[in-house]
Amino acid sequence: MYHALTPTPTKATAPLSVTPKNFTAQMALLKNKGFTPITTTSLAEAWRKGDHLPPRPILLTFDDGYEGVHRHALPTLTHHNFPATVFVSTGWLPGEHETGGALDTMLTWDQVRELAAAGLEIGAHSHTHPQLDQLQDTPLTHEITLSRDVIAAETGTRPASFAYPYGYSSRRVRQAVREAGFTQSLAVNNTLAHRSQSPYALTRLTVRHSTDLTEFERLIEGRALATNFARDHVLTRGYAVIRRTRRTLTALTEPTAPRVERNAQKDRTRGSRNT
Ligand SMILES: [Zn+2]
Repeated sequence: MYHALTPTPTKATAPLSVTPKNFTAQMALLKNKGFTPITTTSLAEAWRKGDHLPPRPILLTFDDGYEGVHRHALPTLTHHNFPATVFVSTGWLPGEHETGGALDTMLTWDQVRELAAAGLEIGAHSHTHPQLDQLQDTPLTHEITLSRDVIAAETGTRPASFAYPYGYSSRRVRQAVREAGFTQSLAVNNTLAHRSQSPYALTRLTVRHSTDLTEFERLIEGRALATNFARDHVLTRGYAVIRRTRRTLTALTEPTAPRVERNAQKDRTRGSRNT
């Protein structure tokens, strides 16, 4: 899983950004190691139907919809004939659907259409990138269906894949994504995806600014994940507890929409976990 691809990230996207130079080296390594990138829909379909997958299948995914996917990733992907999936937060992209809140320079819809024409899958990543599991039912459904409808209107193709902002989902969120017609959805858990996982909870690994080529090789080979991500798991667990506590307090004190609370929470999480 990638986010911004740029030599000059903003402060907010820097920790999870990857330089074009590193990305090019990582794609060359995938080629040399015999990996076969496929789209999210291809993987889920093959697992559903029991079809054979190509040798060493791997998903390349880009969250949020940063402009560098078109400027820097597309030439390398085209060179290797590697498909990928781009999960766009539709309200972050410039144009008539824009809500503001983007962390860096985003794709234009023309660029999204060019990516789709080049064979990349365009998936949805909500409209305004909230923590979906913290939303009430109505705004939850709205976030999911609006991102679906905007992508369908802008690209002419209804998206089949979804990725949860920050990786956060719950049974209720997964159900809402399923009811909106998505056939699979991706989370973040820093473990390799496996066929035994629910198609609405497929896990992904994060490639970071600090990921060097040796580390990248360990990631794609599925080695040393436990030690490398021990710190992340601790942080994630601690953060989840804080989120639960806040939600409980919010529910007790403010049964109606606690909008300010949510916005404050979202702002704090940006930058470090802008998945
Ligand atoms: Zn994201």
